[in-house]
Amino acid sequence: MEFISKNILPENWNSWFSVNGARTFDYLHAQNNRANLEEVRNYLLNEQNYLCAYCQKKITTSDSSIEHVIAKSLNIALSTDYYNLVAVCKSQKNDPITNRLHCDKEKENKEITPFVFFNKSKVEINKNNSYFDVESNGLIKPKDNLTTELYNQVKSFIEILNLNHSALVENRKNKLFALIKSLKSNSEVVKWENIFNYIYHNHSLEYKQFLLIYFAKRKGLN
Ligand SMILES: [Zn+2]
Repeated sequence: MEFISKNILPENWNSWFSVNGARTFDYLHAQNNRANLEEVRNYLLNEQNYLCAYCQKKITTSDSSIEHVIAKSLNIALSTDYYNLVAVCKSQKNDPITNRLHCDKEKENKEITPFVFFNKSKVEINKNNSYFDVESNGLIKPKDNLTTELYNQVKSFIEILNLNHSALVENRKNKLFALIKSLKSNSEVVKWENIFNYIYHNHSLEYKQFLLIYFAKRKGLN
């Protein structure tokens, strides 16, 4: 759910998606060259600081996969496009309550609004995330000041990716309380701004965006 900044096309991107010297635009063709796809995945992992594009769980080279934000079946031309590919988490457990998975395993070929590519999906020092809101119990929800259309898009993004999978909610809540506790042990007064700055500069912190949205509110940003 965090904005993923895609800048210039990586130098080797076209060669990673070439088959017999010619650029393929069909991911299924590229799939025959696993070594090249490893390079693609490693590039994306680095770009995302080893956090899942959707849930921000920590991911590794052996526990991640390449995800097409706009599904292959919806637009084959985008199936090898740098600006449509992200790295996501791979191993998951079914939610004991709903029996559902999360992220791409839950999304499959469904359509989502690509909030991960909208730069307002980012908390800045002076500005909170424009679309998502969070609660101290670990839940993610749409901001309530959105237009109806946008509200429904954010709601559907959260639902299709199942970002409120019980394991994710629990992990986010635990991470949040651990952070507050660690700061309280240093001084009696919690300085929200200090926690915010710590998270803001810690690029590979798990559930970073959730935490930033929470602490941005505590430090007075909406
Ligand atoms: Zn994920």
